[in-house]
Amino acid sequence: MRYLILSDIHSNWEALEAVLEDAAGKYDRALCCGDLVGYCADPNRVVEWARANLAAIVRGNHDKAVAGLDGIEWFNPVAQAATLWTRHVLTPANLEYLTNLPKGPLIVGDFTLAHGAPVDEDEYLLEAFEARQAFQYVERPVTFFGHTHVQGGFCLETRHVSRIGKPGSQHPELLVDLKPDAWYLVNPGSVGQPRDHDARAAYALYDPEERFLALRRTPYDIPSAQAKIEHAGLPGSLAQRLAAGR
Ligand code: ZN
Repeated sequence: MRYLILSDIHSNWEALEAVLEDAAGKYDRALCCGDLVGYCADPNRVVEWARANLAAIVRGNHDKAVAGLDGIEWFNPVAQAATLWTRHVLTPANLEYLTNLPKGPLIVGDFTLAHGAPVDEDEYLLEAFEARQAFQYVERPVTFFGHTHVQGGFCLETRHVSRIGKPGSQHPELLVDLKPDAWYLVNPGSVGQPRDHDARAAYALYDPEERFLALRRTPYDIPSAQAKIEHAGLPGSLAQRLAAGR
């Protein structure tokens, strides 16, 4: 089974469409580590695609906030504005879908999906010492997570934690050598709002049987996504940051 692993799409239809084109024919099932909505201007289109096409998904903090399952006091004003706008424009069926998304971690086949850290869905997993702790809470050798919008992750091998990189700016792909005795926390990166100084949409392809893992980037129509954000009356910084990839 070949999996397309997505995370942090954040209502960016142009980015999702480019990823789906780039990955066409390369996967059997699509999975998501959460945050379908928030920040960009196409929540209904993205959620409808998710409802029709995702084999499994865990909820993200923005999905929870839009659904009203979490307060938004701890969001910054820009994220608050996007949350309230998204809640207002979503169809009732799409809002209900977000409300019922399962909490991670979720075991799929023989690996795990989480939004943030395995022990707490809202916690960021950015540093090696955080990953070292997180490895204590995972039950499968491979876990995919999101939330940080930083592609890459961590490898635990004989008690040593090392970082997994990401494709160079001139390269579409980084192949990760999955060693049989090592454990992995892998972030496919953010489809819709990358924050790792690369504006291209990020995703991963994974085949457990073949021990194949590719971290991939693809360019997308950023000006269109920005124009929709502006047209929706969402904060301009949400459009600007897409071009900067941060
Ligand atoms: Zn996110």
